[in-house]
Amino acid sequence: MWIRRGVRQDPGRDLSSFAASADIAAVRAAIEAARGAGDDVPIGAVVLAPDGTPLASARNAREELGDPTAHAEILALRAASKIYGDGWRLEGCTLAVTLEPCTMCAGALVMARVAKLVFGAWEPKTGAVGSLWDVVRDRRLSHRAEVVGGVLETECAALLEDFFHGQRGNRTG
Ligand SMILES: [Zn+2]
Repeated sequence: MWIRRGVRQDPGRDLSSFAASADIAAVRAAIEAARGAGDDVPIGAVVLAPDGTPLASARNAREELGDPTAHAEILALRAASKIYGDGWRLEGCTLAVTLEPCTMCAGALVMARVAKLVFGAWEPKTGAVGSLWDVVRDRRLSHRAEVVGGVLETECAALLEDFFHGQRGNRTG
């Protein structure tokens, strides 16, 4: 399965047993965004302005849109940049997502200059923010986002477990 519930894998990670209430609220909003995903894996994301105002939320819509790039994070970043006042730049903004981002989404949030990433469940198979790679905090990058992982990890993992339990035998994700 995707998720190792409650497992803290590397001591070097930014663990969040003291997750700030704002981080918890942001991931909670991402969980809400993930709901109603239909055939799509329920992953949700929200983008918050520097003052904490929600700018946009989205859920994974890869199946619905027939688009390999329609991950929740990408859709939320696109929507947020349309309404945030600085073109494509999301400087100072926070991205919250229910699952550790993949390489594409980790790259996109760096490109968007997102200041902070908060995520729920770790993704040991494809995670690019500490699990398999660490795209966001590569020291060679001039822009590196702050990262808080494992916020509401159990709830975020349960979303996926419930989905795959219902889909068992039909898909590989
Ligand atoms: Zn992704």
